[in-house]
Amino acid sequence: MILTHPYEAQGREMVATQIRARGIRDERVLEAMCLVPRHEFVPADQTPAAYHDRPLPIGERETISQPYMVAAMTQAARLEPGDKALEVGAGSGYQAAILAQMGATVYAIEINSHLAQEARERLARLGYTSVEVFAGDGSEGLSLHAPYDVIIVSAAAPRVSPVLLGQLAEGGRLVAPVGTLRHQEVVVLTKDGGQITTERLDACQFIPLRGRGGWQEGQ
Ligand code: SAH
Repeated sequence: MILTHPYEAQGREMVATQIRARGIRDERVLEAMCLVPRHEFVPADQTPAAYHDRPLPIGERETISQPYMVAAMTQAARLEPGDKALEVGAGSGYQAAILAQMGATVYAIEINSHLAQEARERLARLGYTSVEVFAGDGSEGLSLHAPYDVIIVSAAAPRVSPVLLGQLAEGGRLVAPVGTLRHQEVVVLTKDGGQITTERLDACQFIPLRGRGGWQEGQ
């Protein structure tokens, strides 16, 4: 086996024991999770834990999501190479890198401008040229590049903003954690013939989505 990064053995172990073992079957998702160097997306002091089965702090009191959750949401998005994808809540840029690794053109928006700048530099350094990172409130999407085949929301909200849903292309899939501040489930909304169908997946706990379409102060 040819190793493409120094932690690839750990990446393959992570995929086998945390992701495939829990029922993720899309080979393209599994391969992308093996290839994207997760240790590059965490602060240096977290490197030893980069492939562990949990979210990790990335500074600014934010976290990179648990690997399994990234895999489950990516599989649910049914991404095809060449799809145009939007990620809301780019954080470290890891989820955006997974989408890019699978052949999507990715627009990722992050409300914390410091994290956005770090993610932009990191993705450029790692050669992910098909990802563009924006700093700003993405709770109502990014109209500039709409419509999107795939929208992944990486922060939790009480509902999916209708403005965001309006940026989904015909046939598109939107994957988001929806619920209360402490407990959410991942929902998958598919737009077909102008109609929206909803599927519910795993229970989860994400950081709150801020901004206009997210949790307001005092809610
Ligand atoms: N997907 C990220 C982890 C996301 S954590 C990764 O792979 O590392 C959730 C992120 O959503 C946090 O960085 C937070 O700052 C961001 N966020 C919260 N509300 C937002 C909003 N309204 N628009 C854009 N980003 C938001």
